[in-house]
Amino acid sequence: MENSIKVSGGKVNEGKAEILVEETNVFYNPVQEFNRDLSIAVLSLFAKDKYEENCKKKAGDDKDEAEKTDGDSVDMKPGDKTENGISVLEALSATGLRSIRYAKEVPYLKQIIANDISAKAAESIKKNIIHNKVEHLVTASQQDATMLMYQSRQTRFDGIDLDPYGCPSIFLDSAVQCVSNGGLLLITATDMAVLAGNSPETCYVKYGATSLKSKACHELALRILLQHIAAHAGRYGRYIEPLLSVSVDFYIRVFVRVFTSQKKCKDNTTKLGMVYQCTGCETMTLGPLGIRVNKAHKLPQSLPVGQLCKHCNHKHHMGGPIWIGPLHDKLFVSRLLNSIEENHAELGTVKRLEGVLNVVDEELETPLYYVLDKLMSIVRCDTPSMIKFRSAILNAGYNVSISHAHKLSIKTDAPMEVIWDIVRAWEKIHPAKRDRLDKNSAALAILSAEPTTADVSFDLHPSANPMSRQKHMTRFQLNPTSYWGPGTKSTTMINSNETTAKRLKNQNKRSKKSMNEQEDNQAIDSPIIESDSPPSKQKKIIDNT
Ligand code: SAM
Repeated sequence: MENSIKVSGGKVNEGKAEILVEETNVFYNPVQEFNRDLSIAVLSLFAKDKYEENCKKKAGDDKDEAEKTDGDSVDMKPGDKTENGISVLEALSATGLRSIRYAKEVPYLKQIIANDISAKAAESIKKNIIHNKVEHLVTASQQDATMLMYQSRQTRFDGIDLDPYGCPSIFLDSAVQCVSNGGLLLITATDMAVLAGNSPETCYVKYGATSLKSKACHELALRILLQHIAAHAGRYGRYIEPLLSVSVDFYIRVFVRVFTSQKKCKDNTTKLGMVYQCTGCETMTLGPLGIRVNKAHKLPQSLPVGQLCKHCNHKHHMGGPIWIGPLHDKLFVSRLLNSIEENHAELGTVKRLEGVLNVVDEELETPLYYVLDKLMSIVRCDTPSMIKFRSAILNAGYNVSISHAHKLSIKTDAPMEVIWDIVRAWEKIHPAKRDRLDKNSAALAILSAEPTTADVSFDLHPSANPMSRQKHMTRFQLNPTSYWGPGTKSTTMINSNETTAKRLKNQNKRSKKSMNEQEDNQAIDSPIIESDSPPSKQKKIIDNT
């Protein structure tokens, strides 16, 4: 795994920052370098846009300024302070590392507040600000983040970074009020077990939505968090526009712009929906909370599913509400890729950044996805290669992509009838042992149904191999490090022998189980290994071209 962190003599070097960690008991997690690198890239592009907006606005407001600058912006370097730049609050800062990296690596900044509730953390932030000579940009603060944000509702920040242990919910009410109009929220959640369906009741308590146990749990987690932010923002006449939403390692991270408009908030019901998941074949169907007919908002008039699943006659589970609008602003993502190439080539995790963002760029907007080996295991049949399956979807006239959240994901606008027809066509060539199937099983119901798609062809389609794969990009995480995981409260994971020993002991614990079981447990925190052909216990892979 690429990793640029250097540790020596009680100091940690990451990016352009050097953090003193000696004898501190302040949280520092080296695995989050990717999170910080990505945040630097996103914040840099956002800051440039905001700065240009501010310059134009100022030039419009102030005639003298307009004469001086012609409304034009000037190229600024990271480390420079500018009045037209952005203000940033890192509400949960720990060592101050992230803020210091922002100060040294993000241009167009006016001010950064690095805050933490812990006295030890605040002390560490102060020392690190001086050590890194960023006093002109970064100010340390020791407050409860919620109080600080409530107190700043008038002045507001252009960027608010929330990187808590676990769930960010308790900070959202104040954050959505304290971010400027068009400002950016950068939010992490690490409580993946809750978000990924292990405890739907707890998920409702924390996020106002029930989660589902599903192969698409990582994207469901992103969509649960986004609906939660949208719900909070809506209370104050504000709506959200996600710029980028990623599921990586053991956490999710969303970058969301917040705008003020009561009118646009009314569109929220069209961007939120319930998910109906069949308990037999796991087909997922979305039911929006609202629809628009001729610009008017209407309530949906019927349920999107019947009493029993039309594919396999089993009952449904219902989860949600989830965000069903776009996860990313694709224009922003392609600009981000250019900007990383031009300005951030030195970032420690740049290869992975480019890999993940290229997959994001290729992702279809269709919500959720299926996972190929799971689809095939439902009908107890051998698994085709991803390329063959993608070809069949493309040959049938539909679009398909992978999701950055799962290496074997099938994201498609093809109706589920077509997907099951493709599965049926594959089973014809590679028959399942039908005599062993239960007569009430989802497998038998699906395999016995008459196909509706005229001709299914597995012939290689020219678009079946995504560019990110052809270019051998680092699309998914390679191997875990010994510090793998979200970390615990107040640990400097880099220097903690006890933590390291425990983590090393627990590491690869799952390798005792079969790889197939690992796949099933991936919802929680198991790393994803780049390959389109997983080893499989029950099913062998026929062809993996
Ligand atoms: N952002 C940091 C980084 O990139 O290294 C890591 C932050 S760490 C996961 C969470 C921090 O939140 C801890 O240092 C903890 O003291 C702080 N914290 C927890 N509750 C808080 C609160 N209510 N207000 C401010 N800080 C809080």
